[in-house]
Amino acid sequence: MVSIFFQTKIEFLRGVGPSKAALLQQELQIETFDDLLQHLPFRYEDRTQLHTIATLREDLPYVQLRGSIHCIKSVGTGRKRLTASLKDQTGEVKLVWFRKIQWIRGQLQPDATYVVFGKPTVYRGQVCLIHPELTTTAHQQALSQPILPVYHTTEKLKAHHLDSKGISKLQQNLLRRLPPSVAEAVPEYLRQRHKIIGKRGALLNIHFPESHERLQQARFRFKFEELFYIQLRLLQLRQVRLEKYVGEVFNELSLLKQFYHSGLPFGLTQAQKRAVREIYQDLQSGNQMNRLLQGDVGSGKTIVAFLSMLIVLGSGGQVAMMAPTEILAEQHYRGLQRFADSVDIRIAMLTGSTKPSERSELLAALGQGSLQILIGTHALISDVVAFKNLGLAIIDEQHRFGVAQRAKLSQKNQSYMPHVLIMTATPIPRTLAMTLYGDLDVSVIDTMPVGRKPVRTLHCYDAQRLRVLRFVREQIAQGRQAYMIYPLIEESEQLDYKNLLDGYESICRAFPTIPISMIHSKMRPADKDHEMQRFVKGETKIMVSTTVIEVGIDVLNATVVVIENAEYFGLAQLHQLRGRVGRGSEQAYCILMTDHKLNEKSRTRIDTMVRTNDGFRIADVDLQLRGPGDLIGVQQSGVLGLKIADLSKDGEILQAAREAAKQVIYQDPALIKPEHAGVKAKLDTIGSHTHP
Ligand code: ADP
Ligand code: MG
Repeated sequence: MVSIFFQTKIEFLRGVGPSKAALLQQELQIETFDDLLQHLPFRYEDRTQLHTIATLREDLPYVQLRGSIHCIKSVGTGRKRLTASLKDQTGEVKLVWFRKIQWIRGQLQPDATYVVFGKPTVYRGQVCLIHPELTTTAHQQALSQPILPVYHTTEKLKAHHLDSKGISKLQQNLLRRLPPSVAEAVPEYLRQRHKIIGKRGALLNIHFPESHERLQQARFRFKFEELFYIQLRLLQLRQVRLEKYVGEVFNELSLLKQFYHSGLPFGLTQAQKRAVREIYQDLQSGNQMNRLLQGDVGSGKTIVAFLSMLIVLGSGGQVAMMAPTEILAEQHYRGLQRFADSVDIRIAMLTGSTKPSERSELLAALGQGSLQILIGTHALISDVVAFKNLGLAIIDEQHRFGVAQRAKLSQKNQSYMPHVLIMTATPIPRTLAMTLYGDLDVSVIDTMPVGRKPVRTLHCYDAQRLRVLRFVREQIAQGRQAYMIYPLIEESEQLDYKNLLDGYESICRAFPTIPISMIHSKMRPADKDHEMQRFVKGETKIMVSTTVIEVGIDVLNATVVVIENAEYFGLAQLHQLRGRVGRGSEQAYCILMTDHKLNEKSRTRIDTMVRTNDGFRIADVDLQLRGPGDLIGVQQSGVLGLKIADLSKDGEILQAAREAAKQVIYQDPALIKPEHAGVKAKLDTIGSHTHP
C-alpha cells in the first residue's frame, strides 16, 4: 500500500531513530516520510558546468572550477589562515581557509588537478573562494549526481549532523525505498493536457535531478499541484455557496431604464456596461451573488453600483452601502443623492455621528422598507440596524474591512443571503486576484471614461522646489486646488507629526495669502471631516496631509498633487495618491519630489510612475518588487503560504492550474468520479489551510 509508505513515521527511516525524529518534528515539522519528501531543496548546486577563472565575478552564485593548486601557505599571526592559488588556462584565483587549517594543508597536493566548488566572495579587495570544496579529478568522474540539492535546516539540526548534506542523505535513503509505482492524485487527462510528469519521477528529480530539463519538469509539477489545489478549493467554495445560498431574484428593470434614459449624466463606457450586465446576470439568477468589482481610481465604479442598486430596488429590495470612513460615506451619499432624487428613491446616511433622534427615525423607516438605500460606515453592521428586505450589500474599498465584517453585513436578511458586491480600487494583479479572491466572481472596469486626460507625472529633485511651488501657485491662480502629501517616515508618530507640521509651516510661508488646510492622523474624526469639507467646498486651496486622503476622496477641482519624499512611498500608495487628481476635465499633474540619491528600487518605483498611469501595470511591477506577502498586507498573507510557487513569477502556471481546477469542478463539482478520488483525498487533507 503506497499511501501507507508515505504516512510512515520518520523515525523508521534508516539514519533517523527516535531522537532525530523528535528533532526533525520540532524544528521542521517533519513527522512522516511524506513530510520529508515535501521538504524541498531551496536551491541546487550545479556541478554540470565548469567556469573559467577569468570570468569569476563576486555576484555569481556557486561556481565550479578546474585547475591546479600552487603556493600553499599559512599566513597571519595569532589567528592564522591558509591560502592557496588555483590556476587554469585563463587565470588565477586565491583560495582561503580559516578553520581546520592543519588538516586541509595535509590534504592538498601541489600541482595536482582539482575540481573546486565555492562561492566567489570579495576578501581583502580581491575575488576569492573562501572554504571551497575540493575534489581531485579522479574522484570527480565518479560523482554521479551533478546537480546537488541544498536544504534549509536549523542550528539545532546541524548540531546533530542534519545539515543540508545530512538531510540530503536522508532523502536519498528514503527515495531508495520509494515504491516502484506511486499513486497519482492528479488525474491522467490533466497530466496529459498540461504535460505533467509522473509523481515518482517528480519526487526523484526534485531532490536529485538527473538533468536541468528533468528538474524543470519536476518543479513544474510541484508548482502546478500547489496552485491547483488552492484553486480547486476556492472554486469548490464558490460552488458550495452557489448551491447553498439561494439568492433572491431581482429582474425588474423598469427603474433602471427610467434612470438610464433620463437621469444618467454621461454615456457609460463599454467596461461599465459589461460590469452592469454581469451583475444583472447574477441578481436575476436565483443564486447569491458574491462579486468583486475591480477598477482603477476614477474608472467609474460608483455609477455601476448605483445601477445595480436600481435593479434591486425595482423589485422591492433594499440596499446597504458601506464605506471605510465617514468622509467617503458622505461623499458617496452626496453623489448618490442626486441620482436617487431623480428617480424618487429615498436614501439616507448612517455613521457614528448621526444624531440619536435622526437615527431612530431612520431605523424605523428602514424597518418598514420606506427607506431604500442606506449609506454608511461600519455603523451599518451594528445590531440595531434592521432592514425589511436587504437585497444587496455593497462594500467599498474592501481592503479596509475584514472578512468578518463582510459576513456580518450579509447576515442582515433572515430569509435570503443578500447579494454582495465588493468594490476595490486596488488593482490587484490577476495572479493574486485569482488566488485571493478565487471564490468570488470578478468584474473588471479596465477602461477610463472618455475625455479624461491622463495625469502628467513629473519627477523633481528637492533642488527644483521653488519651481514646483511656482507651478502650484499658477494652478491656484487659475482657480484650481492642490494636495501636498508628506510621508510617514519615522517610527514615532511624534516625529511624523513634526515632519508634517514643518511642511505645513513652510507651505504657509510660501503661500502667505492662500487659505490652507491640514489633516493628520491625530485629529479627531470630526475635525478631520470639517477640514476636508472646507477643501471639498473650495474654501481652502491647498490640502497638506499625510496619506489619510489616500482612499477615494473626490475633489474634481484639484489638479495638482505634490508628493514629498516620494521615495518613501510604495507603488500602490503612490498610484492611489495620484488618483486623487485628474478626476475632472482639466489637465492634472502629479509631482514626485525626491532626494538626489535613490536606491534601485526607489528609482524603479518613480520611473514606473512617470512611465505609466495603468494601475494594473503598476501592480505588476509592485508585485515584482515586493513579493505577494507585502502587497496584500500581513493578515492576509497567510493564505499564500506557498512552498514552491512564486506568484510574481509563476503567473502562467497559475493560469494553467486554475483552468485545470475549473475543468474538474465543472464536470464533477462534488468530486465523486473515480478519477477524482485522489484529488478529493488530497483536498480533504489540505483543505482547511487554504481557505482565506
Ligand atoms: P471610482 O471608480 O474611483 O470610484 P467614480 O465612480 O468616483 O470612480 O468616478 C470618477 C468620476 O468619473 C466621477 O466624477 C464620475 O461621475 C465620473 N464618471 C464615471 N463614469 C463616467 C463615464 N462613463 N463618463 C464620464 N464620466 C464618468
Ligand atoms: Mg470610489
